[in-house]
Parts: sequence; structure tokens; C-alpha cells
Amino acid sequence: MTQPIKKPRSKSFHAPIVVEDVPLGTRQNLQLPVYENALGHPVLSPFVVVRGAQPGPVLGICAATHGDELNGINIIHRLLDSVDAEHLHGTLLCCPVVNVPAFEAGQRRFPEDDRDLNTCFPGRVNGTPSQQYARSFLERFLKSIDYLVDIHTASEGRLNSLYVRADWYSPAARDMARLLQPQIILHGRSGDKTLRSAARALGVPAVTLEAGNPSVFQGKMALEGEAGIRRVMAALGMIENDHSPVSTREPVLCDTSQWLRTIAGGILEQTFELCEVVQKGQVLARLKNAFGEYTAEYKSPSDGIVIGMSRTPLAVPGTRYCHLGRIGLPAPPKQPAGGRLLERLAPDDISE
Ligand SMILES: [Zn+2]
Repeated sequence: MTQPIKKPRSKSFHAPIVVEDVPLGTRQNLQLPVYENALGHPVLSPFVVVRGAQPGPVLGICAATHGDELNGINIIHRLLDSVDAEHLHGTLLCCPVVNVPAFEAGQRRFPEDDRDLNTCFPGRVNGTPSQQYARSFLERFLKSIDYLVDIHTASEGRLNSLYVRADWYSPAARDMARLLQPQIILHGRSGDKTLRSAARALGVPAVTLEAGNPSVFQGKMALEGEAGIRRVMAALGMIENDHSPVSTREPVLCDTSQWLRTIAGGILEQTFELCEVVQKGQVLARLKNAFGEYTAEYKSPSDGIVIGMSRTPLAVPGTRYCHLGRIGLPAPPKQPAGGRLLERLAPDDISE
């Protein structure tokens, strides 16, 4: 009689990573099942645990929740090269590729059901393919960390500045956002179905680091991303001396943002740059027809700063051509957000 083949039950996708299983002062690379393909073979996700010799918090860093967003992988690799487990306080838990099937397919969305994985958290055990995948990742990774930096880039066809999405009224998230020293901080409470929102619901202070453009490695983004995360680690007391380059840049704080869209088709000439501060009524783009004649002009509906923009001059009605941030201090929530303050920040660093 044929013996049944032993295969992992789906429950095994849900065992949280136990960082205490890794010996003190060492690093361990893990390949853990988070899903199964149509052959019933496990889909393995890469995780790296760097467990410091000294006690401290668990900082989670992940990238490629969208499979074509590669800069975060480079940031994580640089960080891992620079961290010495013997001198580390606490643990670094990294996932360089969250969305393995999309990464393998070289695309943004989860291929099995063509969904955006970052709209599927916290996921469901018996849900759609992307919901089940999201749930496995949540159980494996999010339940094992104290803080989260989730690294993204722009989506295909668009360019991003270096900016951070964070809840300005979550003290720890705000501190992390400032320590990352991006060009722009965009406030958002993240009450949606993102990974950041799921972390927040679990009591894990989280920020999204939007680092440049998709499908490429950008050296400047890797350098700045790594330096920013090292500043966060230093503030958490994980590394004693931070030798990363110190930036004097003060991020521009935006309380909200909007995508500006074309309302006609044509060839778009954009007259603005990333991070440019624009005025209400300023011409941002002109549209030409196939004969090279101007057919439309797009003006900024308000003052603001350019967070992201279209990369291609081709426009159809509805094309997103400018991600415009509104500069200003976000209104405080009626109920303050929870979150743990970074304990080792100097008093000056946590001032408004
Ligand atoms: Zn993304």
C-alpha cells in the first residue's frame, strides 16, 4: 500500500519565528514555508535573524511586499553586512523578500489572484490566496518583532522621493520617521489593510520607508536607507556607536497628499521635479497632441511639495502624473494613538 507523502500542514505556515532559538551573538539565515504552489511544494520565504549578544528589542525590516520593489533588498543586504552580532543589543529580524511569488514573477502584484498584497493584511486563514499568504507572513514575522520598518518604492511607471509614511501621533513611529531623515514625512494613520496597519494593530510601531523607484537598485537610496535604519537602531540602544553618515536634512512634514490626474490623453510635459515646493496655480504639466500642439495645461490645485511623479510622458485620461503633499502639521487625533516611545532617545530628539 502506498504510504501517504508527509507534507507540512498549513498550520506550519503560521509558527512565529522564535528569535530566542538563535544562539546569542550569531546570525542565522532561514528559509521557511509561507505558502504552497500548485504542485503542493512549499514556497519558502527568506528570513535573517541577527541575534545580538546583549538583550534588547527586536527590530523587523522587510522589503518587496510588492515583488518589483528592489531597493529595500539592497538596503537590508547593506545593513546585514554592517551589523556585528557580537556587538548588537537585541535582534534584527529581516525579510528581504516578503512577496516571494511576485518577486519570482518580476511583478508588483501577488500572481495567484492578481491582488496587491499590501491591501490584504491581516489576511485570513481560509481567505483568498493573497489573504492566506498575508496571514502566514503576519504570523511568521510580525508576531516576532517589536518595531517595523517596511521598505517600498514607487510602483511601475512612477518615481518616488525618499519619503516615510508614518502616524505622526504614534510617538515611536514619529521618532522612527524622523530618525530615518527622509526628504518628506507623510502622515497617515494607516487604518487600511497594509502591512503597516496590521503591525499597528498588533501594537508594533511601524513606518513605511518609500525608497525611490521600482525594478532598480539605486545606490543613493541604499546608502540613505541603511544610514537611517542605523540611526533608528542607535536610538533603540541596539548599536552603541553609530558611525553612519549624519544628515542635517530636516524632513518636510505633510499632513495629507493627493494624486493629480490628467483628464485627457496625449503627450505630457512635466514642468516640476521631485521634492519641488509648488504654489497653487503653478503650471505643473502641459499636454501635447500627436502633432506637437498644446492641448491642455494642468495647474497645481494647492500649495504643496512633490512626493512622486509619473515617469512616462504618455498620458490617458486618469493618468496619475503628480503625487502632491500638503505641507503642514497633521491635526491631532481625537484619541491619541498607542505606541511605545523609543526609550533611549535623547530628550532633544523627541521634541516636536
Ligand atoms: Zn510597495
